[in-house]
Amino acid sequence: MAWPQRQRAGAGLYNLGNTCFLNSVLQCLTYTPPLTNYLLSREHSQSCCQQGFCMMCVMEAHVHKVLRSSASAIQPRAVVSVLTREHFELGVQEDVHEFLCYTVDAMQRACLSGSSHLDSSSQGTTIVQQIFGGFLRSRVTCLSCKAVSDTYEAFLNIPLDIKAASSVTGALEDFVKPEQLDGENGYKCSKCEQLATASKSLTIHRSSNVLTVCLKRFDAFSGRKISKVVKYPEYLDLGAYMSQAGGEPLLYSLYAVLVHEGSGCQAGHYYCFVKASNGQWYKMNDASVGLCDIKTVLRQRAYLLFYAREELLDRRVGNRKLLSMTGTTQFDPGGPTPWYGL
Ligand SMILES: [Zn+2]
Ligand SMILES: [Zn+2]
Repeated sequence: MAWPQRQRAGAGLYNLGNTCFLNSVLQCLTYTPPLTNYLLSREHSQSCCQQGFCMMCVMEAHVHKVLRSSASAIQPRAVVSVLTREHFELGVQEDVHEFLCYTVDAMQRACLSGSSHLDSSSQGTTIVQQIFGGFLRSRVTCLSCKAVSDTYEAFLNIPLDIKAASSVTGALEDFVKPEQLDGENGYKCSKCEQLATASKSLTIHRSSNVLTVCLKRFDAFSGRKISKVVKYPEYLDLGAYMSQAGGEPLLYSLYAVLVHEGSGCQAGHYYCFVKASNGQWYKMNDASVGLCDIKTVLRQRAYLLFYAREELLDRRVGNRKLLSMTGTTQFDPGGPTPWYGL
């Protein structure tokens, strides 16, 4: 999780024709410490047996080029060519959230290549899952017999509704707020076998090492963009939104912010702010890379926010403790995220 050495930000990325959505996502991923540490080790390509296209190999080459190049900007041609062969249509403004999901998913598929027989718990042990993966718990409590039913859902990022919230913490409070199921939405309880009133609540059951939050600024129904200011902290404590209430604080620190500028969904421009391994913040707008301060970073109308677990970033002791927890392949959504020693 920690950078092995301090370095200023790497190269900018030339816009190859409406590729700002791709550039900004790539830059945010490049400054994701555990992902880039892994990619820089070349551990993936040394053992990759994928025939043809492999997203991990593409990302590995990209990250090397960006961080090792002496040029002020490079052309992300390899990633662009991936997109032209996939469903992304260049020249059309694409949604960054969709592209982020696609990229992380394609990296996960690359990690699993040649092992399609793996069960879902083993699939959860890839490097991509160890970095971005977590579990949500949905708990339905029957209010007539008090029976509790839990289901777990894996996530790679958390989309947050911001219509009623003015801050990320407010949106997270809404996210975990219990919802009443009654009337037409009544709940058929399997214990008391009645169509009962029930309470449904969503909590983060196992948190990810890197937390990606998407503020839902694009309203699918109206096609409008929600442009309001939504505050977000530099340090986010997820403790209050976990299944185990009243637990320990779970601190995350902000390392990238992605912004959409423009009024609608179909137009506009994307750029981002990232924290490099030297601890400095940079504004990355296609080919341009410039220093900026945390105050500017926190003043943006953010669309995507990237946070990394703080205890893992800084505490050596914590790292050692986690290094010893290898080999967990049993499905245990409540257990700690297995960590294989990056
Ligand atoms: Zn590969
Ligand atoms: Zn019941």
